Amino acid sequence: MADPPIADQIRELKKEQGKQLFILGHFYQSQAILQHADTIGDSYKLSVEASRNTARNIVFCGVHFMAESARILCQPSQRVFIPDHDAGCPMADMITPTQFEDSFRQIEIADGRAPTPLLYVNSSARLKAMAGERDGICCTSSNASHIARELLAEGKTIYFLPDRNLGWNVGAGLGLHGEEMERVSDAEPANPGKKLYLWDGYCPIHQRFTLSDVAKARKRFPDCRILVHPEVPPEVVAAVDGTGSTSQLYRSFQEAPSSSILVIGTEIEFVSRLAALRNDVTVVPLAVSRCGNMAKITEPKLLAVLRSLEDPDPPGEVTVGADVAAAAGLALRRMIERVEGIR
Ligand code: 13P
Ligand code: SF4
Repeated sequence: MADPPIADQIRELKKEQGKQLFILGHFYQSQAILQHADTIGDSYKLSVEASRNTARNIVFCGVHFMAESARILCQPSQRVFIPDHDAGCPMADMITPTQFEDSFRQIEIADGRAPTPLLYVNSSARLKAMAGERDGICCTSSNASHIARELLAEGKTIYFLPDRNLGWNVGAGLGLHGEEMERVSDAEPANPGKKLYLWDGYCPIHQRFTLSDVAKARKRFPDCRILVHPEVPPEVVAAVDGTGSTSQLYRSFQEAPSSSILVIGTEIEFVSRLAALRNDVTVVPLAVSRCGNMAKITEPKLLAVLRSLEDPDPPGEVTVGADVAAAAGLALRRMIERVEGIR
């Protein structure tokens, strides 16, 4: 007799595990995966939910840095899994620990004091640990602006890394001028007196959105609202009608009046799903840009990870060394404390 469909097998295993299993799905995951998720959200919401859930087994359907953050924030008695360890984030790989150390030092030499690292969660656990050890704090796209505003008000000089686009967009949104922000490298001396220093990383998926895409959309849909994720380049952000994390884009979509046209600049799987959710609102991608790493999480891999949960050495388990986890947890918890403080 043929095996039941994969989706049914996953449902059966979920039923067997009951409350001992918690599946998280990032907004960029496919519908095939999200139908099995116990919660869906942006990177901030998912890390907070992972930290609060008491299930023994946590399966993260997203990219590796997200599962690592969950691992760092969960209790040691819990276990965190990812269906494919190769689901990475190229932006997170755009800075090494040595580059962080050297560029941090360049700013410290130029400015005469250490900057405060504001580290986008799209980064390795090792980098989070280094930020944690330097009084640094993590951020996601939903709270980067709030945290940067607080740090500037406290008189701190910010070193934002690794995403130059998000960092610049946050600075510009807070009213900083171009001459108050500077991209740094690990080899070149930095200039003193800046409010916001930036590492030169970027997301290849969001870097693809251009001013020409915006012009084409405005011509095709003169009454549209164009919304983008803040990982897109600053000149594009300046030309559109709004920016937001995946959760904020989702909220704008839910609140959009009937008959409106939304043009959305972010990962295509997410935009396509929104387009299918409401038939009274037209949703169009600003351009088609797919995150191949998010797409590495498939139903067969999710099934395989669920089948292996009780194996002695399950291949999908995500581990982070105790010292790294302790220091990285400082930077992640500082973010959560600052964000929850405003709610
Ligand atoms: P969010 O924080 O908006 O979920 O974004 C994560 C991400 O990787 C966007 O490319
Ligand atoms: Fe990383 Fe970009 Fe994919 Fe987000 S969309 S996970 S930043 S590569």
